[in-house]
This record gives sequence, structure tokens and C-alpha cells, in this order.
Amino acid sequence: MKVRFQADADFLFSKSNFLFSTLPFPHNLPLWHPTMRSMSIMLMLALMTVLPAAAQQDTSETTRVGDDVYRFRYQNHNTFFVVTGEGVVAFDPISTTAAQAYAQAIQEAAPGQPLRAIVYSHHHADHASGAHVLQQAFGVEVPIIAHEAARPRLVEADNPDLPPPTMTFSDQTTLHFGGRTIELHYLGRNHSDNSLVALLPDDRIAFAVDFVSHDRVGYRELPDYYFPDFFDSLRRLQELPFDTMVFGHGAVGDKASIDRQIQYYDALRAAVEEAVRAGQTEDEAAASIHLPEFSDWGSYDTWFTLNVRAIYRWVASR
Ligand SMILES: [Zn+2]
Repeated sequence: MKVRFQADADFLFSKSNFLFSTLPFPHNLPLWHPTMRSMSIMLMLALMTVLPAAAQQDTSETTRVGDDVYRFRYQNHNTFFVVTGEGVVAFDPISTTAAQAYAQAIQEAAPGQPLRAIVYSHHHADHASGAHVLQQAFGVEVPIIAHEAARPRLVEADNPDLPPPTMTFSDQTTLHFGGRTIELHYLGRNHSDNSLVALLPDDRIAFAVDFVSHDRVGYRELPDYYFPDFFDSLRRLQELPFDTMVFGHGAVGDKASIDRQIQYYDALRAAVEEAVRAGQTEDEAAASIHLPEFSDWGSYDTWFTLNVRAIYRWVASR
């Protein structure tokens, strides 16, 4: 399916509708912190004037990854926005709190630009919550776009912080705004059954959330993963034409990051299949399997064993 979004003559946005929302960061002053208690009132007052900037630096960060293309990080979550000649296409709002900071970051990167669309990477609440906050901050209702399998889940969830998408697609759709092309690709079930990958083919930049990352093992026991579809999905991702990849967590990567993710999951799967063939229990496999070539990856020490257990349960259940 192809959907083409053009500038509408009757577009709802008007500058007078901008609701410049309250800044989130001054409310986050760490006055509760133990080290603060011993400080004098004078020192605390002095610090209060500088802490908001420091707190903001730690909490959130906007990184330019291409021409008018940005990654926005809020705590450990990343999202992605594209400034076009006709306004901004914003991906995951992350949370109601993050969405406030996200709106501010967009307005700083693209002053006076309207919001044109919100796109959910997938339906999980820790990435998709907060669309209404984003819309409120821009004083406009925009299409919320997601894969078609996300909609029934969010309708059923009936969560006011997580409004269901108003536009969905099945395999691929293309957004055209202000001379920019933003492709949304569905690569099959991987982490969730509705993850999409955004691709800017002219810029060779892509955005993928949760099912891949840059040199990190998978999240814990790979919750809401679909096997073997997940492995196919990684290969389909590898075939997309991009050089830069923004991930939902961690550092920005490239095509080689995806190659290494494939190598990791192939090695993990092969090791687990070998353990199952040898008659090992899940506990024995979790204790015996190591992949030293990936031991310097993020979260290897804490999550690798959990990854082994997740793959073991799938292999053993076949
Ligand atoms: Zn997720």
C-alpha cells in the first residue's frame, strides 16, 4: 500500500495555536539527593541556577544525524524526527514526560515548524506513549501512523496516554512532506508483531527500535519476540539501503552494526541448538554457553544468559 501525504490547504496548524508548554526540567531538580542535604541553603540556591542545564544534559539530548534529521534521547530511550519543508514528522513520543522535552527539542531544532505526523515504531508503551502531549505542545491534531497490527492492541489497551493510530499500513508506506521521502517498512514479526523501520532513502538514514541495537545483546529474555520470524527480519533489515542507523536504545550505528547483530544471533542460536542436541537442560545451557567474541558488548554481563534462556525455550519447544 502506498499513501501519499501532501500539504493540505486546510491544514489545521496555525502559529497562534502553539501551546508552549511548561518546561519539564526545572521540576526535576534533584533536591532530594543525599549529597544535597548537607549543603547550605545559600549553596543550594546558587546551584539551583545552574542545575537545570546540567539535569537537562543528563536527561535528554538532541543529536543531528543528517540534514534536518535528528535523534532525540530521553534517559535511555531514543526517538527520531525529520524536519521537512512542510513541518516535522516525529516518531515515538516515548512517554508523557519525555514528550514535553521532545516537543521542546523539536521546536529548538526547527523553530516555528508545524508538527505534521507522529509515527509509532511499535505499540509498546515505553516508546509510543505521549502522542497527545506532543500534539498539545504543537496545538494541533496530526495523523498517528503505525503498522496495522498495532491498532487493535492499542484499541484494546484503552490507555489515554497511548492513543491508537489513526492511519495504518500493512507492508510498506511512503510519506511525502516538503520534498522529503520517508519510507515505513514492515519487516515481519520480530520484537512485537508490529515493528516498523523508517528509511530516508535519499539520506540513507534509518530508524529501528528494540529488535536491533549497536553492539548490545538483546533485552533480557527477549520479551514479545517471535521466532524464527525475528531472524528473517534482521536479514530483511540488512537489505535496506542505509548507511546510518538510529536505534531505539544506545549509540547510533551503521550497516555493519546490523551485520554484527546477525552474527551474534546466528552464533547464539547455533550454540543453543548444539546444547539442546547434547541433551543439556536450560540451566546447563545457560551456564555453559559463552560467546567471548561478543563479551565486550553492552549488557553482555547481565543479559547474555537471559538471551540464552529465551532462545533455548524456543529451540526446545520446536
Ligand atoms: Zn518494545
